[in-house]
Amino acid sequence: MKTILHHAEAGQYGLFIDGDYVPGSARQYVDSINPARNTTWYTITDAGHADVDQAVAAAARALRNPAWRSLTQTARGGLIRRLGDLLAVHGERLAEIETRDNGKLIREMRAQMASLPDTYYYHAGMADKLTGETIPVNKTDTFNFTLREPIGVVAIIVPWNSPLYLLSSVLAPCLAVGNTVVVKPAENTTASTLEFAALVRESGIPDGVFNVVTGLGETAGEALVRHPGISKVAFTGGTETGRKIARNAAENLVPCTLELGGKSPHVVFDDSDPERAASGIVSGIFAAGGQTCIAGSRCFLQEAIYDTVLDLLVQKARAVVVGDPMDPQTQLGPLALHSQLDKVKDHIRTARQDGATLVTGGRQPVGEGCAEGLYIEPTVFTEVTRDMRLAREEIFGPVLAVMPFSDEAELIRKANDTVYGLAAGIWTRDIDRALRFARDVDAGTIWINTYRNASFLSPFGGFKQSGYGKHNGMEGIREYSRLKNVLVDYSGQTPDPFVMKLG
Ligand code: NAD
Repeated sequence: MKTILHHAEAGQYGLFIDGDYVPGSARQYVDSINPARNTTWYTITDAGHADVDQAVAAAARALRNPAWRSLTQTARGGLIRRLGDLLAVHGERLAEIETRDNGKLIREMRAQMASLPDTYYYHAGMADKLTGETIPVNKTDTFNFTLREPIGVVAIIVPWNSPLYLLSSVLAPCLAVGNTVVVKPAENTTASTLEFAALVRESGIPDGVFNVVTGLGETAGEALVRHPGISKVAFTGGTETGRKIARNAAENLVPCTLELGGKSPHVVFDDSDPERAASGIVSGIFAAGGQTCIAGSRCFLQEAIYDTVLDLLVQKARAVVVGDPMDPQTQLGPLALHSQLDKVKDHIRTARQDGATLVTGGRQPVGEGCAEGLYIEPTVFTEVTRDMRLAREEIFGPVLAVMPFSDEAELIRKANDTVYGLAAGIWTRDIDRALRFARDVDAGTIWINTYRNASFLSPFGGFKQSGYGKHNGMEGIREYSRLKNVLVDYSGQTPDPFVMKLG
């Protein structure tokens, strides 16, 4: 495989447009750091309007190109399947690049890469199973049906925390339906997407179907969202950015899918197994360093089990192995960015000023291998009240707010006391209670006796300020297709031309 990584060791990446790596017209460049070492390891181009124009034009041409447009659905599926095969071969290398870029554990990124081939295989299989409907209407000699079609050029904007995994949950359905795309990866985790572009080319997917513009959100990202050639925006990222993107896309009346932030409740009832529940809470907030939209950052413990589970949580938090994310033994790597570290430290400071009790963590570890990196200890706060920033704002770090509750009614009130609605978890042995929780909590995903557990087969997406639209499964396919109605009159009659034919 032709790789471009060797050019990028402390070097310069370009853009990927119309099947080729190109330098781009920009004069501004952005450094990407390895957060475990706090060193720059490559630089990307901040694409400008001219680059975005070129990328969108290439995607628009590819949409009309018979090599893509007239490909049979089964053949299109074959190309997507080939891309899955290539990901199976190159997953390890891509996982290493992502860990180096965002500091997440190598075993987490390996697991994400390992899930990608099946994601593409599923969508490869969907490519020739998209159907419209025949809908009989109240008219004689009339044939009425629907067609499911590609939407057009889709802009895909991705954050840094799981670059290829989040890209693929949009790209795979986009390709299955026959769309073309322009991707804007996060400015600090661009490498894996540009390396992945070489695999797209190798798969035989025609040039221009997949394009990458790199750079900052406010320049390259905004130019892409505002471009009149875009038919849909698929955005994964923060809620404030999502608001801005929806506003900009609205200028061209372009629909968006928005997968945004969260402040998810993670609940333990007193009938649950404390060990299992405490381990679940740890997986919800300390795995991935809390740098995940679904972080279970608000932990609610029922009064009778509060002390037992809190003790276990503190023990487990103190036992977390913090260090080099490339080491398979490590359980908590660094935060991805300086701005993330500053934000998390600020939240910890504010929580203490606001009167929350720091039970464990809260500092930058200075042990072996951590001194120069952007690390923060697993952190647990108690005595948290609903009005504190700690209880309300997404921190995106390994910081847990623990709060007590007495009964189910109080718990539901507290769980829903957030502007977000992405996910929620409950630990209980009472199935009735678990199902009432699933019904009453305003979140797009509910986990019962499990957490951070997802599938490309099943819809994922938030409510409230966690966004709208769904990824994965059949819902993802609907999200990236459009429905057309076709009506045929085969009566041979000439009806009254001045009356609309309703019914
Ligand atoms: P972010 O919103 O700062 O950036 C995300 C992407 O948007 C980046 O590529 C960025 O360059 C781009 N961007 C920024 N401003 C833009 C603009 N004005 N126009 C166009 N593009 C713009 O988010 P982040 O800090 O990279 O990621 C963390 C956030 O992502 C968290 O809030 C997290 O909860 C959320 N997230 C959500 C999901 C989900 O599926 N719901 C998954 C992962 C992350």
